[in-house]
Amino acid sequence: LLHEYDKESLLAADREHMWHHMSPYNPNPMIVTGAQGSWVTDIDGNRYLDGMAGLWCVNVGYGRQELADAAYEQLKQLAYFPLTQSHVPAIRLAEKVSEWLGEEYRVFFSNSGSEANEVAFKIARQYHHQNGEPGRYKFISRHRAYHGNTMGALAATGQAVRKEKYEPLAPGFLHVPPPYCYRCPAGKSYGKCNLECAGYFDQVINWEGEKTVAAVIMEPTITGGGVIVPSPEYMPKVREICDKYGVLMIVDEVICGFGRSGKKFGHQNFGVKPDIVTMAKGITSAYLPLSATAVRADIADKFNEPGNNQHFRHVNTFGGNPAACALALKNIQIMEEEQLVERAEQLGDELRAKLAFLADHPNVGDIRSFGFLMGIEMVEDRKTKEPAAPAKLTQVIAECKKRGLIIGRNGDTIPGFNNVLTLSPPFSTTSEDIDFIARVMKEAFDTLG
Ligand code: PMP
Repeated sequence: LLHEYDKESLLAADREHMWHHMSPYNPNPMIVTGAQGSWVTDIDGNRYLDGMAGLWCVNVGYGRQELADAAYEQLKQLAYFPLTQSHVPAIRLAEKVSEWLGEEYRVFFSNSGSEANEVAFKIARQYHHQNGEPGRYKFISRHRAYHGNTMGALAATGQAVRKEKYEPLAPGFLHVPPPYCYRCPAGKSYGKCNLECAGYFDQVINWEGEKTVAAVIMEPTITGGGVIVPSPEYMPKVREICDKYGVLMIVDEVICGFGRSGKKFGHQNFGVKPDIVTMAKGITSAYLPLSATAVRADIADKFNEPGNNQHFRHVNTFGGNPAACALALKNIQIMEEEQLVERAEQLGDELRAKLAFLADHPNVGDIRSFGFLMGIEMVEDRKTKEPAAPAKLTQVIAECKKRGLIIGRNGDTIPGFNNVLTLSPPFSTTSEDIDFIARVMKEAFDTLG
């Protein structure tokens, strides 16, 4: 069944039995049958360079035999045991994650980025209970950010259209404007501002009452909301504000972690130490589902104080599955041995240099990048910054696809503002692949005139 098929009957079965993510966003899905390195193959044998590494996640690239072997060997040895007890792959992976974070953290495993964020919210709230401040229950995140699809993570998400049909979501989530220099929410320009974007946290904490706020949650760079890269001073200033008010800082590294930013974790680019770090996607390069919530040791220890019988009451059947942990360890080992974090940084530089010509195109308003991920914000008019007509983005994406390149698109969910093209290829991408990306992007943009 898995190896014998014809395209027409498969598509008919797909239409009859599948409910696609984001459906009916794509009424005519591509059926992908295989992949190697940075290239995927569809059912017709067409090859595409996967410029989005799936959903920003296949960091080491497709088809790594060692990853398959690591999972297979672990499945034979011990396929499963719940993490109310312990097992070797989970212990070793927790150790490795702490090492990569460069501080002592305790690691709670789940299966998805959304779950990792839910765990972070619950730990943050309970921490304040343990700490004698049970009134702290609110979270502050940014407009445009995406933090997941579950009722808490979606509440933290700052994009209205993703949420409006599913209300009421978890209460207690507030939002501040993003650190978006191209369209500064305070109407200032970088270098002539007071980092109002960070200051919003201070204001909101004061307006709400500092003793009601549990934590802020942020990605080092807003990825899914249009690749909004903050200024170097932004995260340190938010950290300062958190410290001033006893508010925890949760950093969502679901996309930025595991090399994507050119560092092991995105926040390491800004010299801040988060209280809680959430991670998923790149931890296994998406070969198996796994996520983690890393909690600074002194915060975690509050849950273990003598006489403090307030356990963290959260269990997750599949979280920290032994095969997924073994695979994650091998994935990290590959990144270390092949120096893929450093490579991601170099690839990012190379991509920026080779796509620099796009800055001259009249429909390109801003090019932003963070490590090996890039956003190209398209406009109708570079002076007014009016977003490009949606058809223009659709056209560029289709022209790229025709030529064998998959790119992404995101931004805000406000109509018209879904105007950012995105690139986030696997680290297996070569210089020739980047030449190919540049050539295809040039041809695709040329079709706009
Ligand atoms: N946080 C961020 C920053 C994400 O990009 C995503 C997924 N795109 C999530 C959380 C949720 O992860 P998952 O889809 O694994 O639940």
